[in-house]
Order: sequence, then C-alpha cells, then structure tokens
Amino acid sequence: MQGAVQGVGFRPFVYRLASELGLGGWVLNSPHGVCIEVEGDEAQVHRFEQRLENEKPRVATITGLKVSPLTPARCERFDIRDSVAEGTKEAFILPDLATCADCLRELFDPANRRFRYPFTNCTNCGPRFSIIEALPYDRPNTSMKKFAMCPECQREYHDPKDRRFHAQPNACSKCGPQMELWDATGRVLAREHEALAQSIDAVRGGKIVAMKGIGGFQLLVDARNDDVVRRLRERKHRREKPFALMFPSLESVEEQCRLSALEKQLLLSYQSPIVLLEKMSGDNGLARAVAPGNPYLGVMLPYSPLHHLLLHELECPVVATSGNLSDEPICIDEPEALERLAGIADVFLVHNRPIARHMDDSIARVMMEREVVLRAGRGYAPTAISIEGGDSETVLAVGGQLKNAVALKTGNHVFISQHIGDLETEPALAAFEKSAADLPRLYDAKPDIIAYDLHPEYLSTKFARTEFETGQSQRFGVQHHYAHVLSCMAENNLSAPVLGICWDGTGYGLDGTIWGGEFLLVREDGFDQLATFRQFRLAGGDKAVKQPRRTALGVLYEIYGSELFEREEPLPFVDFPSTELKVLQKMLVTGAGSPLTSSAGRLFDAVASLLGLRHAVDFEGQAAMDLEFVIKPGGGGFYHFELQGEQPIIIDWESMVLEILEDKRTGKAMGDIALKFHHTLVEIMVAIARVAGEQKIVLSGGCFQNKFLLERTVQRLRDEGFIPYSHNRVPPNDGGIALGQVMAALRTHRPENVSAKEVCAA
Ligand code: ZN
Ligand code: ZN
Ligand code: FE
Repeated sequence: MQGAVQGVGFRPFVYRLASELGLGGWVLNSPHGVCIEVEGDEAQVHRFEQRLENEKPRVATITGLKVSPLTPARCERFDIRDSVAEGTKEAFILPDLATCADCLRELFDPANRRFRYPFTNCTNCGPRFSIIEALPYDRPNTSMKKFAMCPECQREYHDPKDRRFHAQPNACSKCGPQMELWDATGRVLAREHEALAQSIDAVRGGKIVAMKGIGGFQLLVDARNDDVVRRLRERKHRREKPFALMFPSLESVEEQCRLSALEKQLLLSYQSPIVLLEKMSGDNGLARAVAPGNPYLGVMLPYSPLHHLLLHELECPVVATSGNLSDEPICIDEPEALERLAGIADVFLVHNRPIARHMDDSIARVMMEREVVLRAGRGYAPTAISIEGGDSETVLAVGGQLKNAVALKTGNHVFISQHIGDLETEPALAAFEKSAADLPRLYDAKPDIIAYDLHPEYLSTKFARTEFETGQSQRFGVQHHYAHVLSCMAENNLSAPVLGICWDGTGYGLDGTIWGGEFLLVREDGFDQLATFRQFRLAGGDKAVKQPRRTALGVLYEIYGSELFEREEPLPFVDFPSTELKVLQKMLVTGAGSPLTSSAGRLFDAVASLLGLRHAVDFEGQAAMDLEFVIKPGGGGFYHFELQGEQPIIIDWESMVLEILEDKRTGKAMGDIALKFHHTLVEIMVAIARVAGEQKIVLSGGCFQNKFLLERTVQRLRDEGFIPYSHNRVPPNDGGIALGQVMAALRTHRPENVSAKEVCAA
C-alpha cells in the first residue's frame, strides 16, 4: 500500500482493526510503503479492506492499494513487525504536523504527566520531515535517537491501544528534549519553565527573542509595539516586506481580519501555514511597521506545544519571522544562530532536539475558494506528486534562482523539497547544495538525469553544470516558462496538448532575451511559443527590477524612441537626477546593459511607476501588489491592445500604456485605472486563447499570485468555453519549477545511451 501513511498512527490503526475483526497476520513499514498481510474469514477480510479506507487516520492518504491473495500462513495473531530497509525507497515522508487536539488538551491539564511539556506529540501530530535523517521512518533514523525513552514513554510506545504507539518522537519531561534560555553569548540564563517565563517577559518588555522552533529559529517580538518591530526591521535589514504574525487563537484573528470558512480551516489545519488574510480597517492596536501599506496580514496560529505555551501566556499577537538576515536561509542550530543572529536577537530560547533540515513556515492564500500554496515549507514539504507510467529513470531537478526548491523523481513519484530561498547569498547556496544532496540520499536514488534552468547565471544552473560534470548523469536544460507550465500540468494530471499561459518576472528565453509574458502551445514532447509581449529594454537589468521607474522609462523609450528625451513635457514619474537620466538614456539608445524583455511582471512594475504608485521596490512583486491592492472593483471596460504577426504573435501594449497615461492626466481615479489595466490583461489572455484553439488552458508563473488577475482570468476563460487550470499545492512562482523541469526531462525523447551530455528542452 502506498500513500502518506507512515508516522500517522497507521500501523496501530491497522493493528486495532485487524484484531477487532479477528484476523491474523502482520503490518510493517517498508521502503515502498506499508505492507499488510491479513488472513481469516473471507467476509471479514473484505470488511477489513473497506474499513481500512473509511476509518483511516485523519492525515493519512492512501494513493495506491495492491491486493494479492496468498496461501494462508496460519497466523492466528496480528503483529506489528520491524521495518525493512531494502529495495527502492519510495515511501512518502510526512511533513511536520501541527499539535493535535488531544495533545493540546493534555498540555494544559495539570493532572496530566505532560502538563506544560513543550515537546509533547503523538502519532497524529508532531515533527516529521524536520527530524528524519533516513528512511524508513523509525526512531533510530530520526534526530530523536539520542533520547532514550523512560519506562512510562516506553510503555506507551509499545502499547497498540495507546495514542503514542510507535510515535517516533515520543517523549516527556523526564526523558525528552529540554529548553534553555541563553544570552547573546550563549550563556545559560534559565532552564525549562523558568526559560519560558523569562522569554515571555522578554517579549513583553520589548525585546527580540530568537526561538528554536520546528524547522529553524524564529524571531519573536510583541506585534503591538511599534518600536521593537521597527528595531527588528533595522537589524534584519528588512525595510518593508510584511512580517508574519502568530495569534493566540482563532478568535483573536477574527478581531483583526475578515475570515472565510476555508481560511479558518486552513489556519486550523495540520499544515498550519501562514495564511494571507484581508485586514479590517484600522490598525486595531497592531504596530504600523508590521505590514506597512499592505491591506493583508500574514497570519498563523500556534502549531507546536512550545508556541501554544508562549502564546497562551502572552495573550497577544507576536511577529514570528524567520531567524535570518533578509534573503538568507533560516538558522537551524544553536552555534549558527548565535553567530548569524548575534546582532539581531537579544535572547535565545533553545532546545536540544536537533533539526535535521531547515523548514520555513509555509504561506498560503485562498483564491477561487481554493487553497493556493505560495511557499511550501513546514506542513507541506516534501510535496509528493504521483505521475503515470514513470519510467525507470531517476531525475533530480535543481530549480531556479529565486524561491528555489529542488525535486527528485524516483519510481512513480516526484518529491519536491521544502522552500530553500533565493540563491544570492553564501548561506543560501550552502543550503541549496545540502538540499540537492538530501533528497537523493533519503530516497537512496542515484540521478540518471540532472535537470536545470537554461539561465547561464543561475547558481543552480552552474551547480548542475559543474557538480555533475564528471558523473554519469545526463544533463538537461529546461526553458523556464515551459517548466512553469509543465509543473501546473503535472499537478493537475493533465496531458498535452494545452495552451500554457506563463506570466512572471524573469525567465531566460530561448533567444537569450528575458521572457515573462509567454503563451506556449505544449505538445507531447515540447512546445511552441504561440504569443508573447512586445519587448522593451530594462536599463541596468537587475537594477531595473529593483526600480520600477527604470522599467517605466524603458517602456516609454520603446514607444517614443530617442524623441523621449527631447520632449517638452516632463516624464510622468518622479524625475531621475539628470546625471542618472543621461546614463540611462545612453544605455537605452545603445542597448548596452539593457536586456530586452517580454515580461508581464515588469509591465506591472512599469504601470505602477507611471501611475506614481511606486518607483523603487524593497522586495520582488511589491509594485504589482500595490497595483492589485489599489483596484476599485465594480467597473468595466478595458484598454486597447493589438495582436501582430504570427508564431509568435506579438501583443502590443502601446495603446494601453498611452491610454493609461491619458486617464492619469485627466485625473481619473487610480482604482479605476488599475481595474481597467487588469481587465485588459485578462482580455489579452482570452484573445490569444481564441487563436490557440486548445480547450485546456494552464495558468502558471508568479503573476498568478495576484488574486484579482487569477480569479478574473479563470472566470472569463470559463465564460468563453475554455477549461482553465491553475496551481494548488505547487507554488505558481519559481518554487514550482523544479517539478516542471523533472517533467520536461521525462517527456522529451532523448538520444539513447548518452551519458554526461547536455540536451535542451525547447
Ligand atoms: Zn498529538
Ligand atoms: Zn518519558
Ligand atoms: Fe518564473
């Protein structure tokens, strides 16, 4: 049997069920999944099969059930046997699970032996992926191996009727992990409950507390205290990117945010992600610096016993942000935290359960009344996608440069790693290399193919090209937007042909320019570029990404040419210093250092700047978010656009931009202009879909994190008779492309018997 069943109390459940039905046999964890042999009365065996599916534990999913009749072995009893560790390892690894209701009740029950014990867990909850060192999932293969269970814990662990039967991280205050509070030099200030009490005082007193959590260190501060939130921003070098909040309870969230039924469900789910929620008007006592100028809050609820204990006492929301300098990966061990968080945290609340791999908090947003995962970390990773007829080849995909995640295909599944981050710092690169080695090691798989992005400057690409140079693995470059579309197809189990619409910020195009507004006709074994946006220049490349006003200048230059710099009227956005403008002018005219792009994301940036909303950004996607947030819904209409030529069709946005400038000049409301701009983009998609003649339309790329754009596009495409597909558990942003890279490598016909050769999927 295959599925995510290991470590969720599945074997105890099977044991109880078989015993109740009077069946003999055994159950064990194997690398392929759970094996069960039952024997007894035929009707009872049939009943067993039915109840297995119907009554399985809440978090268990069964993806495959193979039944074969056997000669009776005359077993009278039912046993749980030791795990076997041989053959291809394909069993699912479970993600870390938020504290269950039973454990929570015990945590606050003075009569219970685990009263206030911050590391309690059971087969229905607790750490998993963050403590697993090898498969199969058994205690000696986890970072809990160094804690020997006390007699009481032993008894629970071996009692099939107990909720902690074979709960691998089982522990109590007598035998399990313990906390300590350290100062910034690592000196112990307090232990156990006193450490907790002093941490609470520190948060209340406006201090920054670094806390070792499930998948790494978090930085906690009082979310109502503007001074400390600002101090945190300064020390973390994070100017405007919103901070996530942890609230003590669902009720306290409802005082600040509007919540739908699905959003509530997500907050309370065992994945317990950060959910993006619409804020009610007013600051309601929250510090302004938490999410400046943003109508959304990133909110989560306590998900570990330690978080429950802290928040229960604090009774107020805290900022709970990853323990790192901005753009670096989260710290996972004490020495690393003391070193890297030295200038940030005032005190350190640590514990002695090692974290096997870093795991950020996940982020989800409800769009089209569905959960869309924007960052897959704790609770979701590793994400398993089953694929049909997967051949015997093992593929490792190294992902992109930003929001990196890697993926491994072995057997009939693709396993996507946790979010790793932007590969722009040394620590991020180190975390990436560790993760690229981690998945193949866990699953005991030697990659036959290494798939990577075609961008020559991506560190993941360089890694794939050099690291595996001498190996026997075949290397396989995959075009960025093709990977996006294939990831969405894999998630939705779609086969070609489809029209893939991939809009994002940046991706290396087949012609060496920067793509990002692509319509791809995806065939069985490749794709054709059906349509793309008219290109414009980005003066300074990456610098233009940080400064939407440069992008706006590039768009205007594309319209007016050199005449732009001779015009009487001033440029519609904040004037550049004249020296800078001279430099940019030269860059645009000569094309030096000014790559061409067809990026839809950059078009958002340009329009945001032309409207005066934002001229420089602090984080990726910020200007596009401003445009989304400013929309005043309700109106209709769209701007003009032209489609020219064929294969690829060039979408000309010139009249749209000119009309936007005219609307701005005549004083039209910003909310109406932003709405009309979004409508125009949707109508462009509908127009190209009509030309493409495919019914299945696949939407992928970072632009589809925009709720208004996604929902409106899906609605309009459905109105026109198309069937749109979008992302759900796999992020629409670059966090999803490793999956697409795997799929590209599998579906493309490659020359036989070629090793260490480079092939491109185009
Ligand atoms: Zn539990
Ligand atoms: Zn114990
Ligand atoms: Fe992308």
